[in-house]
Amino acid sequence: MKDEKVILSGMRPTGFLHLGNYLGALQNWLELQENYQCFFFVADWHALTTDYENPGNIHDNIKEMVLDWLSAGLDPERSVIFRQSDVKEHAELYLLFSMFTPISWLERCPTFKEQIRELEGRELYTHGFLGYPLLQAADILIYKAHAVPVGEDQAPHVEMTREVARRFNHLYGQVFPEPETMLNRYPLVAGLDGRKMSKSYDNYIRMAEEPEELQRKIRKMVTDPGRVRKDDPGNPEVCTVYSFQRIVNPEEIITVEEECRNAGRGCVECKDQLSHKLAEFLKPVNQERKKILEREDYVEEVLQDGAEKARAAAGETLNQVKKAMGL
Ligand code: SF4
Repeated sequence: MKDEKVILSGMRPTGFLHLGNYLGALQNWLELQENYQCFFFVADWHALTTDYENPGNIHDNIKEMVLDWLSAGLDPERSVIFRQSDVKEHAELYLLFSMFTPISWLERCPTFKEQIRELEGRELYTHGFLGYPLLQAADILIYKAHAVPVGEDQAPHVEMTREVARRFNHLYGQVFPEPETMLNRYPLVAGLDGRKMSKSYDNYIRMAEEPEELQRKIRKMVTDPGRVRKDDPGNPEVCTVYSFQRIVNPEEIITVEEECRNAGRGCVECKDQLSHKLAEFLKPVNQERKKILEREDYVEEVLQDGAEKARAAAGETLNQVKKAMGL
């Protein structure tokens, strides 16, 4: 029996997903859909806030990403899966919120300054970029979400959403609950070079990686830098291969650790074992992916169907909002 609490979460359409996305956000979503009323959306308008100059791939990226969601087990029967731009109510609520949200709230958002710094060279002093936390507030509040799963960097946006809800309720009467931040308890997944796994570092393993490519990539993975020869004792705590072994090979992890520490196994052997275990771990996902690909329009059907359900819920909230605001 599901809790009546509503959870909302979204991802920008970045195309295929990597293991960091899968083991971080997506596995969390799979657990949430078992227990709550979940809305999962593709944040395609949000993608335009930073990539408005190169929107070319958004359409294909949406398809690839949703294909990975569904392959991993997101279930359109249990969750509402949709594309933000199919539900125009988000934009209308965003506009209405913009009437009473002080600009200072947006300017003080830590992500605003950080991204301006990080994405140096891009013209980001735009209305859309400054306003995107407010669009997020509309995304969340239009479904009266009780909680939002986020990484720590996005927590200030949920805080701002709570302020927007409070200000609305104070000005026009009680309509919105104040959503809670549900901090993502999944650790950051390391990439092949030991840094955070990311497409921009080109250190990723795809969710849908073929076994041969998987093995090739894992052979390049960094290990304990202090272990130069096979008979040097290793330190698994600083080894990226070991961090994956812990996830996909828990039943043998004590042996891996002991053999590493007493130089009883070589890194090549350890990597090949990981490739094999990881391929097994990803097999059901890849099998599901192949089945979905046989149904040519399936991803689009899921998104259309999800948009219809999302519009029904969003329309109801918007009616309450308009009534409260005297429109
Ligand atoms: S034996 Fe395995 S855990 Fe130990 S350093 Fe080599 S790859 Fe890492």
